[in-house]
Amino acid sequence: MAAVSTPSTAAESSEHRLPDALLERVVQRVTAVGDREWREVTTPLTEEVLGQVPVCTAEDVAAAAHRGRRAQQDWAQRSFRERARVIHRFHDLVLRERGKGLDLIQLESGKVRFHAFEEIADASIVANYYGYAAETHLRPRRRVGMLPVLTRVEEQRVPKGLVGFIAPWNYPLSMAITDIIPALMAGNACLLKPASTAPLTALWAVDLMYEAGLPEDLITVVTGSGSQLGEPIIDEADFITFTGSTETGRWIAAQCGQRLTGCALELGGKNPVIVRADANLDKAVAGVIRGAFSSAGQLCISFERAYVHEDVREEFVRRLVAEVDQLELSTDLSYGPGMGSLHSRDQLRKAAAHVEDAVDKGATVLTGGRARPDVGPLFYAPTVLTDVTPDMHVATQETFGPVLSLYGFGDDEEAVALANDTEYGLNASIWTRDVDRGMAMAREINAGTVNINEAYASAWGSIDAPMGGFKDSGLGRRHGREGIIKYTETKNIAAQRLLSPTDLPFLDQEQTAKVFDTVLRVLHRNPFVTLRRP
Ligand code: NAP
Ligand code: MG
Repeated sequence: MAAVSTPSTAAESSEHRLPDALLERVVQRVTAVGDREWREVTTPLTEEVLGQVPVCTAEDVAAAAHRGRRAQQDWAQRSFRERARVIHRFHDLVLRERGKGLDLIQLESGKVRFHAFEEIADASIVANYYGYAAETHLRPRRRVGMLPVLTRVEEQRVPKGLVGFIAPWNYPLSMAITDIIPALMAGNACLLKPASTAPLTALWAVDLMYEAGLPEDLITVVTGSGSQLGEPIIDEADFITFTGSTETGRWIAAQCGQRLTGCALELGGKNPVIVRADANLDKAVAGVIRGAFSSAGQLCISFERAYVHEDVREEFVRRLVAEVDQLELSTDLSYGPGMGSLHSRDQLRKAAAHVEDAVDKGATVLTGGRARPDVGPLFYAPTVLTDVTPDMHVATQETFGPVLSLYGFGDDEEAVALANDTEYGLNASIWTRDVDRGMAMAREINAGTVNINEAYASAWGSIDAPMGGFKDSGLGRRHGREGIIKYTETKNIAAQRLLSPTDLPFLDQEQTAKVFDTVLRVLHRNPFVTLRRP
């Protein structure tokens, strides 16, 4: 808990501010054991100050880890049902309090309300799923023993202990809490470092967890910069879940490697969308807009490359540009507008620099291509480029902004080859009326998720199946079974009855080897015995 009270610095009168009581309440969730400096959190929508959070130190990380480990001892003994009770209550609270949550997400990230709602939905979907599914994935399982009948084997999953989470700002609710949920269900304590520019939403979610009945200290939070707190967190934790840029991900993996600590990394993307000639163009245009401009393109699975079949390219471009021009940009905290703000000066600079570089090298701007300070200080127009060549930054590097490059293709094989021509492999999308053909293409695409006739929501929301990145887009998976077993160590406990497999009575070594030889030959021809589910 913070030892000091929050200085009041929020803007005096604006709809873009948070209630003092809410601020004060959530900031109490930060572990700061001494007097700390405070760092302002501003809203990208107006650049006004929302509040302040402590600048935590390595000492705070150590205190948070110590508290978490102590709390974890008891939590690990609780049944899945007891843990699920908390997670299901959290689910209900997120939905009940969603008005506050949506305001917070919008204010901290800069996105429009409907895009913020994706995060509320995601948090509830994940809580609902792991609340029910954790036990199925983790309960002890009997395995086939070495000697049928005589060797009884149980595979057990035990919690890692303390899991460290380092989260980004782009989905400040989703990315802070949804990976924590399976870790808690698996019996771990969690230590969270939210992004410096979006800690308040994460703190709100953690506060809701406690309101839902989570025992004290099972989630501890430190606020402050990743470069200061990253190493102490990796030192303390038994596993690290990191979501952010590929560059930081590599550094984290190297640190974890030194310590033989496991890690899951959800990193960047340069995601392609393919529009076949037989696609329903109305739906494809809407899907490409959703995929490219949701959260102003600051979404790890958003599209930055669109490949459109030459036969429909002209028509597609005409409709796409017309619809993009209709997108309403706004700072409103209500439903309706189509796209919000970039998150920071850095993000705005990067989007503008990518477009400028492309234009300098000969790209054509079909729409957008400029900042929109008339809407808000960090707004950038949704942008569609064409005539993009491989020497442009926008061709290969992640922009992480509302910039889509449009290319043509001749046949499916070419489309797949172009889609795969990247160092990343996070998400892809194919639009076609021939779903079987789409499935066949999807099998050839090197990405962790492929959506057919949808931008990203189908694969992301199908939470019983894993999601994550190929190549430079990450290590490990979230969602499904893989999304929870990574928070456990596996134990194989084998109890031998009557006969030892290596010490058969009355037989010398040579005879024992012969018996073994016969048994091995028999087993080889009997998959039933080898694979039998006990
Ligand atoms: P980032 O700079 O890598 O930051 C992510 C988190 O890491 C922040 O909490 C940051 O703290 C922290 N951090 C920075 N340097 C660190 C270090 N040396 N050690 C430990 N932690 C450190 O990424 P970002 O710019 O915030 O986020 C955008 C990127 O995230 C994009 O590339 C996007 O594709 C990716 N992303 C991927 C997914 C996915 O699921 N695959 C989801 C969302 C975003 P500070 O805030 O204090 O710097
Ligand atoms: Mg960054």
